Amino acid sequence: MGRRQVDLIVDHAAELVTTQGKSDHPVSGHHQSEISVISDAAVAVQRATVVQIGRSDQILAQYRSKHVINATGRTVLPGLVDPHTHLVFAGSRERELEMKLEGKSYMEILATGGGILSTVAQTRKTGKRRLLEICRERAQSLLTHGTTTIEVKSGYGLTTLDEIKCLEVARALDKIGPFHIVPTFLGAHAIPEEYRGRAGDYVDLVTREMIPAIAKKKLARFCDVFCESGVFTIEQTERILEAARNSGLGAKIHADEFSDTGGALLAGKIGATSADHLLHSSDEGIREMVEQGTVGVLLPAAPLTLMTGKYVNARKMIEYGLPVALGTDLSPSCMVENQQVSIALACYCMRMTPAEAIVAVTINAAHAIGEARRIGSLEPGKKADILIIDAPNHRFLGYRFGVNLVDTVIKDGKIVVKDRRLIK
Ligand SMILES: [Zn+2]
Repeated sequence: MGRRQVDLIVDHAAELVTTQGKSDHPVSGHHQSEISVISDAAVAVQRATVVQIGRSDQILAQYRSKHVINATGRTVLPGLVDPHTHLVFAGSRERELEMKLEGKSYMEILATGGGILSTVAQTRKTGKRRLLEICRERAQSLLTHGTTTIEVKSGYGLTTLDEIKCLEVARALDKIGPFHIVPTFLGAHAIPEEYRGRAGDYVDLVTREMIPAIAKKKLARFCDVFCESGVFTIEQTERILEAARNSGLGAKIHADEFSDTGGALLAGKIGATSADHLLHSSDEGIREMVEQGTVGVLLPAAPLTLMTGKYVNARKMIEYGLPVALGTDLSPSCMVENQQVSIALACYCMRMTPAEAIVAVTINAAHAIGEARRIGSLEPGKKADILIIDAPNHRFLGYRFGVNLVDTVIKDGKIVVKDRRLIK
């Protein structure tokens, strides 16, 4: 019998690393470290989809292709998923680095009109076309670092029209591609200047005007809230996420980043898809999340750039059975576009193993944005989002950091990054 012709074969990889991703549930507990590693491996791709993975001799006995990438000495893994970015913004805030070094806290910078609010001002006055150019370049940077699917939050508009503008930019990015964008509405990111002292009125605007308008235009899959003392209370968060659910949006929470406000507990209670940060979450909150299958998205670059020196106790979370994902938290105050950095920080600052961290940036990150059926692992029937990294085994992710290990990125079966360069 002849070998079946396919669009693309990657063969002779030193390692092919993937996870068991067919299940409806994210990976948790001791399963978080269970990756399957195939040596001298190959993957066959047809019409943007993985047809088969296995040892090279097995795959080459069954399939042939005019396009074969020899991955000798390199490692193949699923395209990375970044489940938490604030990618749509204008301007930059490099000046705040010195303020942070002087010891000013995030909340102090915010209180003086810096931080989020200065980015809001810049984003509001930037037109949609210009904003799209800026964000496209940024998304391309993520892609060249191996991220094929990006969750993108709004949250620097804070008026109905500007939030819509930001989400329309996210939608346009997804159309342009080749990266895939999952949009999240984060109108409750901060209380805008014009609503200072009138948080309740702003929450009304979010629930009565913004959410219905965004749901009607189908501009977001999720709604997120920055639940924190001095920003949105637990009651306001619940109100906003309830309105979002009634409009068909999934729930996410920026939970317990600076103090325990009960964010994790609420996330569990309402069955949120994910709760993110979790630095100060109570044990009770984490248990509630475990119970409800809410994914914990840990963002180690946030405490790094805030210079708090305090990282989430990831070992405890994994022990409790919380499915852990990792994100960059890319924003003007956390300018990291590279999930390889999240992996390294997870290993060195949170004592996660490379295998646990890889699960956290692939299948669990896909679960955190409701995309696990299509992406997050290399299995027959899943999207052919594939990375080839310049490393002889997966442990180099984490071990060797500060360089881009990604050599080739395949998105939907097409080579989009080659020799570390974007193919335009
Ligand atoms: Zn965030």
